[in-house]
Amino acid sequence: MAGPAPAAEVRRRGGSGGTAPPQPLPAAPHGGKAAMGGRGRAVALPSGSPSPQAGGASSRPVSVCLSVCLRSTFDVAVVGAGIVGLASARELVRRHPSLALAVLEKEQGLAHHQSGRNSGVIHSGIYYQPGSLKAKLCVQGAALCYQYCDQKGIPYKQCGKLIVAVEQDEIPRLKALYERGLQNNVPGLRLIGPKEIQAKEPFCRGLMALDSPYTGIVNYKQVAQSYAEDFQEAGGTILTDFEVTNMEMAKESSSESDDGLKYPVVVRNSKGEEIYCRHIVTCAGLYSDRLSEISGCSPEPRIVPFRGDYLVLKPEKCYMVKGNIYPVPNPRFPFLGFHFTPRMDGSVWLGPNAVLAFKREGYRLFDFSAGEFLDAVTYSGLWKLVLSNLSYGLSEMYRACSLSAQVKQLQKFIPEVTVNDVLRGPSGVRAQALDSDGNLVDDFVFDGGSGDIGSRVLHVRNAPSPAATSSLAIAKMIADEVKRRFEL
Ligand SMILES: Cc1cc2nc3c(=O)[nH]c(=O)nc-3n(C[C@H](O)[C@H](O)[C@H](O)COP(=O)(O)OP(=O)(O)OC[C@H]3O[C@@H](n4cnc5c(N)ncnc54)[C@H](O)[C@@H]3O)c2cc1C
Repeated sequence: MAGPAPAAEVRRRGGSGGTAPPQPLPAAPHGGKAAMGGRGRAVALPSGSPSPQAGGASSRPVSVCLSVCLRSTFDVAVVGAGIVGLASARELVRRHPSLALAVLEKEQGLAHHQSGRNSGVIHSGIYYQPGSLKAKLCVQGAALCYQYCDQKGIPYKQCGKLIVAVEQDEIPRLKALYERGLQNNVPGLRLIGPKEIQAKEPFCRGLMALDSPYTGIVNYKQVAQSYAEDFQEAGGTILTDFEVTNMEMAKESSSESDDGLKYPVVVRNSKGEEIYCRHIVTCAGLYSDRLSEISGCSPEPRIVPFRGDYLVLKPEKCYMVKGNIYPVPNPRFPFLGFHFTPRMDGSVWLGPNAVLAFKREGYRLFDFSAGEFLDAVTYSGLWKLVLSNLSYGLSEMYRACSLSAQVKQLQKFIPEVTVNDVLRGPSGVRAQALDSDGNLVDDFVFDGGSGDIGSRVLHVRNAPSPAATSSLAIAKMIADEVKRRFEL
């Protein structure tokens, strides 16, 4: 484990201009959470206490240096402490232990958005276009995820998954998925008939199913927390409560730099505090387009937030579901359809649906942000998407409001499920990139730009599902790309 890192500071910009003297951040008390000051702060992980939403392995002692270890200059700053940002930061510090690395996160905790609000499925890589980044990184990422969980003692269950055809016209699409999975080298795939479906899932009915025994479940918030621990133990700094709002080239060298403009990019947060760095990697999920714009790169593709609401099966009904049960997906959309997913805590989640959200981080039906709504409706790509999928969008909205309409979807697979067996559950919001022609961007997208700042930034532009599964493989790709672009 790395020893205490150097004393830290974040710069607060004073008044109308100039840079106020560096303000040291409050020190975190040993053995507890980092001090929650009113400005960017270093995350300290609680020693020996469970991490949020985590079970099992998270109760192992966490020996992370608790001194507030901020400095104001970094070789690479990663924006976003979701699972992709944390995996990337971890990989970078492993490859470049002598560099100063930081993760900048606007929330007070880690994995607060998509990474902490998802189905928790370790996807095997069936669905994705052969040769795409999703196909390659999902298959690699699932193997790395199982290996990582084994190494760290993070609990997971390889409980398998059935993609079930309930109508005749779904069978050709199911067979095509099987072929696709084989091309993607997904292990253990088989097409099975009604008898085998019932042997595996006694309550499930179907004409044919694609059996994927390699699919599993895990708590991704716990995985992300563990990446953060690895990163901090290797000397990395995590600053939470640090919402990046501006990036610009420094006009003069940082006081910490004695060889000219060694750290030429000033990254400023919503409170006017600033850090200096050489390079930036953004992994900002629902705000990835904003971060790109802030850095002077293209705001396109834009992010469209799709809320996914879950139902939960009442505890006394959870016996009806053993593994993951998925529908044959609608090929027009990148979402996998309303499914049954067992959770690591023994509960069963049903869903999620996919409804256009009026706020990027809006987790309730009527959450609304005027600014974000206005921004979305003035984007031509959104209109093209909405108009070409109007009836589908409206029926998804209707189903979001009607419990019985959602349960009807589930009854196609498990006829015994009734409205009385389910409760409304949590929601997540997917960050889905949309191009100006109204097409949902299918693959992962990583890019940079040109110009002073653009050439120093690598953006993760589109990392929807299965990016949690793929996080360790994405991280390796990002670290390769950082080395190539920035010659680290
Ligand atoms: C409902 C749902 C179900 C899903 N199910 C699965 C699944 O079963 N399996 C799977 O593999 N994947 C699944 N996914 C996808 C997966 O969760 C995401 O692909 C993954 O979490 C993306 O991680 P991320 O780090 O890119 O984004 P996020 O987790 O959203 O992290 C981005 C971070 O950036 C921070 N940030 C944003 N703007 C700023 C700023 N200006 N300054 C500082 N910080 C900023 C945010 O606060 C956030 O913490 C699901 C997603 C959803 C929503």
